[in-house]
Order: sequence, then structure tokens, then C-alpha cells
Amino acid sequence: MKHPLDLTVIMYHYVRDRGDSAEAGSGIPGMSIRDFEAQLDDLSRQHTFISWLDLRAALQEQKPLSGSPCLLTFDDGVRDHYMTVFKILRERNLSGLFFALDRSETDGLALAHKIHFLLAKLGLNRLREEIWEKLNSVQRERFTEAEKGYQLKYPPISLERRINMLKAVLQRDLSNEVDPLLGNLFETHVGSEKETARNYYLNPEQMLEMTEGGMHFGGHSHSHPWFDWIDAEVRTAEIKASAEMLQKIESGPWAFAYPYGGLAEDAPQILKAHGFIAAFTTQTQLRHTDPFLIGRLDGEEIAQSGHGYA
Ligand SMILES: [Zn+2]
Repeated sequence: MKHPLDLTVIMYHYVRDRGDSAEAGSGIPGMSIRDFEAQLDDLSRQHTFISWLDLRAALQEQKPLSGSPCLLTFDDGVRDHYMTVFKILRERNLSGLFFALDRSETDGLALAHKIHFLLAKLGLNRLREEIWEKLNSVQRERFTEAEKGYQLKYPPISLERRINMLKAVLQRDLSNEVDPLLGNLFETHVGSEKETARNYYLNPEQMLEMTEGGMHFGGHSHSHPWFDWIDAEVRTAEIKASAEMLQKIESGPWAFAYPYGGLAEDAPQILKAHGFIAAFTTQTQLRHTDPFLIGRLDGEEIAQSGHGYA
């Protein structure tokens, strides 16, 4: 018996080529436009692309989707999605579901994205050193303790794992302290954070143009925190901010993507209470049993593995 949740969901972040207007010399890598288009070709041979509205209707009516459905999703509401992805999807008559952060003109960059810029600019070792220099002795102790904990989770045998370990310490254990500190490093090494943020995230006009072109938006919180690291009150405020943002864009019920894929037991209830009907994780899975825990495959990882989509 087919289920409304028998579907393949692909997750994307940056889609850009080095030096293009989305990458803009930042050095932050992403999935190349060629790989992205080749993957769409691959996927189209095996699947029927569906839109968020198709999935939403299937969930509301408890009806299975026909064929071998595939939904394309894009996280973080970065300008790549307007400059590159939107044009490619529109040419192919496809619809994407874009999980944008709730950002306003005066907000700077979310911590996760400050880290992307600074890692690209300074490299892992120098960024770690520059942060370390600015911490006081109590913070250094917490930093070291946190690193020890993550060493078990991410044995630092590869550069990628060492980067993930530093990210975990900064995004979780020391997030409050390093957020302003990274803001200062950003101004020193990259430039104006506010100005960068204004160009980095989709603006309301771009989002409007995208919805008019058949795209859909979902929530991804305001500040992109790990949901298991904050308390219920903050989780509620983060989800509420997304609902308020989406109200201005399109009618609900909406979809949500958990920042970093971080889960909290009460999150589905809070999401339901704020007008959401589905939520997406970063768990690699093709069969889903709960509409608030829909797994996704990472498109960039599939492309990098060199096997194409299978
Ligand atoms: Zn994200």
C-alpha cells in the first residue's frame, strides 16, 4: 500500500560557480551549476517532480502521490536561489520548496553563515586561533571541554571532520559568546556584515517574483539555532517568527525545515500550533512515517560521490 510519504526529497544549499554573482568572491563553495543541471536530468529520468502543493494536498487528503515522486528543496534562502536556481527551475517548468530564514534588512548574518564566510577567508586553523585569542579563561575551558565531547562524535581524522567539530563548538556550546566575536572578525577580515547580509539573503521582492514564478516557501527559523540546544520558549519564538514571515508570502499550511536538521521532541507540536503541516530533517531516508520527520538526500553529496543519482 502506497503512503503519501513515499517520496524522494532532495536538499540543496548553495548552487553557484566560483566567481559568479552569488559566490561574489566569497570563496564559499557550493554545488556547481553544471552538476545541479546534470542531477536534474538524472532525477527526471527516474522520477516525477512534484511541488509543495502536491505534497500538501496528499497529506491533507491522506492520498498517495502517483508515480515515483520527487520534491526539490533549498535551505537558508540565499541569493543563489534567486540568481541561479529559480531561472533553471522555471526553464524546466519545475517548482522548488525554499526554506528561507526570517531575516530583516537590519539583521546581520546568522551565525552559521558568518562561519561559512570566515572559514572560506581564513581557513580552519587560523579561524580557530583567532577565536581562541579572544576568549577568556572560562570560555577557553568550555571550548576545550566541548571539543573533547565532539572528538568522540567526529574523530578528527579528516579536514572535513575537524571543520564539523569546530562548527559544532561554535554553533552550540559557545554560540552566545562567539556570535558577537565572529561579527568583529567578519568586519576585520571580510567587510560590512550588514551590507553582506543584505545581498546574501533573498529580499522580499525576489521572494515575490519567485512565488509568482511557481516557487514555494517554507520556514527555517529566524536565527538558525540547533533545536536541541535551545529551550522550548526560544523554539516557539523561532517557529513563530517563521510563521509571521510566511504569512506575508503565501497561504498556509506551510512546511518547515529544522536548522542543521536538529530535532526536539516538542517541535512538531509547536509547528502544528503555528500553521505548519510538515517538517523536513537532514536524515538520509526515502521512506518516512511521520510528516514532521521527512528525510532528505543531500544533492551536493550525491554529485560529489561521482556516482550520479541512483
Ligand atoms: Zn539551514
